[in-house]
Amino acid sequence: MTKPMFEKVALIGVGLIGSSLSHAMRRANLAAKLAACARSEATRATVRRLELADDVFERAADAVRGADLVILCTPVGTFSALAAEIAPHLKKGAILTDAGSVKTAVIRDIGPHVPPHVHFIPGHPIAGTEFSGPESGFAELFDNRWTILTPLPGADDGQVAKLKAFWEACGAMVEIMPPDHHDLVLAVTSHVPHLIAYNIVGTVSDLERVTEKEVIKFSASGFRDFTRIAASDPIMWRDIFMNNKEAVLEILGRFTEDLAALQRAIRWGEGDALFDLFTRTRAIRRGIIDAGQEKPELEKKRT
Ligand code: NAP
Repeated sequence: MTKPMFEKVALIGVGLIGSSLSHAMRRANLAAKLAACARSEATRATVRRLELADDVFERAADAVRGADLVILCTPVGTFSALAAEIAPHLKKGAILTDAGSVKTAVIRDIGPHVPPHVHFIPGHPIAGTEFSGPESGFAELFDNRWTILTPLPGADDGQVAKLKAFWEACGAMVEIMPPDHHDLVLAVTSHVPHLIAYNIVGTVSDLERVTEKEVIKFSASGFRDFTRIAASDPIMWRDIFMNNKEAVLEILGRFTEDLAALQRAIRWGEGDALFDLFTRTRAIRRGIIDAGQEKPELEKKRT
């Protein structure tokens, strides 16, 4: 068997992303030793039962000792305090990365705590499901999905290449981009669509003339699909909107303008305008399927 890529990896947080990373690392033999930090006893017990790590600790500082790669997999609102806690215990030459869904704010929160002898390379796997917790992970989560790395200016190219190779060994494809561009791209592709889903499900549940029983009974796939997205973890998503304000508000501005145009088209009976839009949007769906970003056999696990 070939030598593992890292002697010791520490996962801080073992939810969907942390547990999926554990499975993916085990599948590809990427860590000789895997340590984890989980704050609740329930999660630590699950980590032991499912053997998601060789050692599991309550304190992040204990998990990172001697680790060559440390991956923060908790909600982004926790990163600042965690970075302050682990900073004095990080090994010289270690790579510190994260899986957080926003990047500019994460760099703001973690950056000041990182000792000069540690390589901080922010990252984000664009892969998820609406499930959370240590039992929701699976090895294939990152297969054929993009992971974005947003290295800081002056980052060590060799260490960036090593982290890229790590994600590729977990099944992902890797792209490198500036953090503010990441935040804008993700606002369009993920954050605003989630906000729209949370909003429509909230609107429907507040209706007085259509009962909740009717909504559930007659939920055709349109509403049902929104409820799946709107079931995503509330803490994680609260933290995303608190930390990607600028890009989300910019895209929401465009969205509300376009929504007003649609309202107008419906009011004035402009069927051609609706038809043209729906034809364009259908082509986007086709493009996603053609790019292999929706695989029926994996979607079953992912949803
Ligand atoms: P998750 O399943 O809800 O798991 C979060 C984990 O963080 C849990 O193990 C939880 O511990 C731990 N945690 C929460 N608050 C903590 C704190 N204050 N201190 C220490 N540990 C804490 O979340 P996830 O979906 O894996 O997301 C993890 C990160 O990946 C987030 O930053 C998110 O933005 C990012 N991400 C998520 C997705 C997605 O679709 N889910 C996709 C890409 C990236 P307990 O179990 O003990 O409560």
